Amino acid sequence: MVLAAEIGQLRWMVMFDVYKVREDFPILCTDVHGRPLVYFDNAATSQKPQCVIDAVIDHYAQHNSNIHRGVHQLSERCSAAYEAARSKVRGFINAPRDEDVIFTSGTTDSINLVAQSFSSAYLRKGDEVIVTEMEHHSNIVPWQMACERSGASLRTIPFDDQGDLELHLLKEMISDDTRMLAVSHVSNVLGSVNPVKEMVSVAHGHGVPVLVDAAQSAPHIPVDVKDIDCDFLAFSGHKVHAETGIGALYGKSEWLQEMPPYQGGGGMVANVKVGGTTYAEPPLKFEAGTPNYIGAISLGAALDYMTGLGMNEIAAHEERLTEHMLESLGRFEGLTLYGDATLRCPVFSFNLEGLHHYDVGRILDKMGIAVRTGTHCAEPVMDHYGVTGTVRASLALYNTIEEIDVLLEGLERVRSIFA
Ligand code: PMP
Repeated sequence: MVLAAEIGQLRWMVMFDVYKVREDFPILCTDVHGRPLVYFDNAATSQKPQCVIDAVIDHYAQHNSNIHRGVHQLSERCSAAYEAARSKVRGFINAPRDEDVIFTSGTTDSINLVAQSFSSAYLRKGDEVIVTEMEHHSNIVPWQMACERSGASLRTIPFDDQGDLELHLLKEMISDDTRMLAVSHVSNVLGSVNPVKEMVSVAHGHGVPVLVDAAQSAPHIPVDVKDIDCDFLAFSGHKVHAETGIGALYGKSEWLQEMPPYQGGGGMVANVKVGGTTYAEPPLKFEAGTPNYIGAISLGAALDYMTGLGMNEIAAHEERLTEHMLESLGRFEGLTLYGDATLRCPVFSFNLEGLHHYDVGRILDKMGIAVRTGTHCAEPVMDHYGVTGTVRASLALYNTIEEIDVLLEGLERVRSIFA
């Protein structure tokens, strides 16, 4: 039995060699304050592999031209690369058709697109939108704005101290007045993986569409829109090892056909006359102006990189990191970890007794350890636990067990400095 388990472990290590993976990320060799960088701020943004950097440089150096407009060779090449990237996003999230994928500037932009377009068509006074208490501000504020404009109201599903949503309350809250359920797949503070498939099933039982914020799931676990059966799904390129300023929105084709455009301009029209305009078919209907085509190309390269490693292999590696982190943090005296959800991704928020999160973060930085401190754009989560902020260590596919040990040594040092 032991031998079988060891062989299993060995096979997995050969399939996912994290030390080899690290060689793909030039920045991981950097020293910070004279110490090797330990980068644990991946929930804010992740680092880029050389193949993504090369894709960007290569396109600027050899192919750059605005897309969808030119008849010349460079424009055709860039247009083809942009549409190929759309196809890669479709494959990554298992969407039915390339046309169901809209390029945006990121998760925030994707959610604003839906909140504005959907609410102008379907949200009226007396209607309700449901979000959760653990959303990033990006999945709260656009809905608050939509509700203010329309006279609808916003309701929230609470979570328990463990970081699991009080799912039974969704069944009580949802009604004939509900027009949208918007929920994060993974919390950017607690790491909780929310049961989005189950939530979609409840919502659809009432004819309510669901938007899934996949900003923190796309980097860590397979995301399958057909399996989840969500109506919309948003994620950001810069968190899945692509450039900043690019992201994607998936929408079911019946919604994308029906919903009005979010912004007007070039590229999103069929015909423009002074007397009126007809719009292009989706996805172009929602891509006004020159899109971030180099960003899209970088996203395609990043998704190729991740699928090359294997999303299941990435998830298995991160599960091992999570186990080690939970065990190490659990042993650390005076440390409060926020959230211990049944299913989780490698995002850990905590505080040290008697110490301000900012001070902890600043001292860790002096040791080359990059963590984030503060509210993480999720103030309702801070309010839930009655704290002003936390230290957040968020890991990615290239992090190692040894780096977790460096963090724990760092925390010991912080404690001794303040003792
Ligand atoms: N949702 C979640 C869960 C996030 O973690 C973030 C980024 N921290 C966002 C939305 C917003 O992403 P972006 O800033 O890339 O638009």
